[in-house]
Amino acid sequence: MTGVPVAPGVAVGSAVFHESWDVDIPVRFVPAGEVPAEQARLDQALDETKASLAETQQRIASEVGERDSRIFAVQGLLVDDPSFREALRERIRANGVNAEVAVRDEVAEWSERLANVAASTDRDPAADLRDVGRRIVRTLAGHEADEAAAPAAAAGRERIILVTKEFLPSDAVHVDRSRLAAIVTASGGVASHAAILARNLGIPAVTGVDVSRLPARGGSWVVDGSAGRVILEPGEEDVRDARKREQAYQAFRASLEEDSRGFAQTKGGASIELLVNVEAFEELQPAVLEGLPGVGLYRTEFLFMNRPYFPSEEEQYDTYRSVLEAVGDREVTFRTIDVGGDKPLPYLKVPPEPNPVLGWRGIRLSLEWPDMFYSQVRALLRASAHGNMRMLFPMITAIEELRRAREIVAEIQSDLKTHGVPFDENIAVGAMIEVPAAALATASMASEADFISIGTNDLAQYALAVDRNNARVADLYQPLHPGVLRLLRLIIEAAHAAETPVCLCGEMAGDPEATIVLLGLGLRSFSMSPYFLPIVRRVIGAVDLAESRKLAQKVFELESTTEIRALLRERTLELVPELSALFDHET
Ligand code: PEP
Ligand code: MG
Repeated sequence: MTGVPVAPGVAVGSAVFHESWDVDIPVRFVPAGEVPAEQARLDQALDETKASLAETQQRIASEVGERDSRIFAVQGLLVDDPSFREALRERIRANGVNAEVAVRDEVAEWSERLANVAASTDRDPAADLRDVGRRIVRTLAGHEADEAAAPAAAAGRERIILVTKEFLPSDAVHVDRSRLAAIVTASGGVASHAAILARNLGIPAVTGVDVSRLPARGGSWVVDGSAGRVILEPGEEDVRDARKREQAYQAFRASLEEDSRGFAQTKGGASIELLVNVEAFEELQPAVLEGLPGVGLYRTEFLFMNRPYFPSEEEQYDTYRSVLEAVGDREVTFRTIDVGGDKPLPYLKVPPEPNPVLGWRGIRLSLEWPDMFYSQVRALLRASAHGNMRMLFPMITAIEELRRAREIVAEIQSDLKTHGVPFDENIAVGAMIEVPAAALATASMASEADFISIGTNDLAQYALAVDRNNARVADLYQPLHPGVLRLLRLIIEAAHAAETPVCLCGEMAGDPEATIVLLGLGLRSFSMSPYFLPIVRRVIGAVDLAESRKLAQKVFELESTTEIRALLRERTLELVPELSALFDHET
């Protein structure tokens, strides 16, 4: 069966099915006279859930690590949110239902509203909410919140392939990590909890698999997280081949961990800037940032998405400031809110659009929604007094948009000054280049922006006319297409001519097959998800700039993506043979 590859590697193991939402919901009518008592029952369950989350957080922090424990702190905030509590109390009163039903319905409503938000590169914003809902219902039923979540143990000592519709954070608590070989789920994308856990553990994961069509009995499977394939009845040779690749990949990962940190250096000693992309504060672990100059893309929209209403200026300020304080003197590029298109805001009522991705999104929405944009820019500027910040605008298509956005920044700066509020007066303000027409106009964009950031995820989508989230045309989504590469060359050259710094922050920055050609085109700054960083660092360390330029020239003589990919793969594998474990061997 095929699905979406979200964590690379290959593994052989014994399939174990795990049902996530395994809680019975009792349904009772609650007459008006009993509403206060039912609300009190709910309040008590919320308090107990909060306490049990705090306990889980501490336990996971000491047993597994700080990083994995943070998710439970975030869930604690959800349970503690007064508007969440109020919404549940109101459901009990208005609908005359018991607390369990109120929780179920509130969670279902938010899950549905947030359902469209989950794009391939985004985390599922409702997963934590469902996890919290399950915990509260279990507390109401008087169960220990965690116990029933434990997946059935596999027989014998074989390693486990966890198969589940949806993998929620508290499921991770019960998995015996030493025996976990792979994860297969129906829902969730590259940034789902399953994917993040799998990459942290260095095991493969495939999502988007129609789990309901799998045979009920597991057996021994092969999971190929690089190709997005699950082999249900592997032959002897499949198993032998998979085990060999698994070993090679584990050895490769172990060697990556020994790699020194700090700036990447090419074989010839040239310094290349490597930065990380971040979507949420809890991803900013000290280990992630060790030796790195900073965050190349902080997607602020996630602060707006996973909740029922706009964050206030104060709340935003606190978050931005905490981010800056957490990273010390490193630079953080905050991108202003990029919603619309495949990232709708559940509480922002936008009339339905026939083509949302070509519609009201990114900076377009911000410029027409001054309340939202002003409060964000104000919060960012106020936070800029506490660290090293750059501000970046998404989806700039016309120069007027960049000018207008800069004007707003200047207006707010002068207002802050009048009121004696501190901010960084030299803050750099940049434009994302992710629309082909803007790419062709990079010369003027670069002369008015302090820096340029290339968003290849959207640039490729718009240049190729391929929806980046549509599985039907996923094989046509090819950032290595000769046309896309020409756009990239043009952007990089125009930025260099204007002496404007340029960084690439789309997924392509973390694709080891693209590294050499990007270097050859003159790119010196790459921002990517932390997972890919040591891999790209390894490729950079194996090549010198003269060779990368020569290879880029050769690439531009080729006419098809297939030939381009083959050439790049061949050379990359010659330089770093261990990468073989990462690639899909059948394409
Ligand atoms: C991009 O488009 O490449 C990008 C980095 O932004 P996002 O993925 O958030 O659209
Ligand atoms: Mg984009």
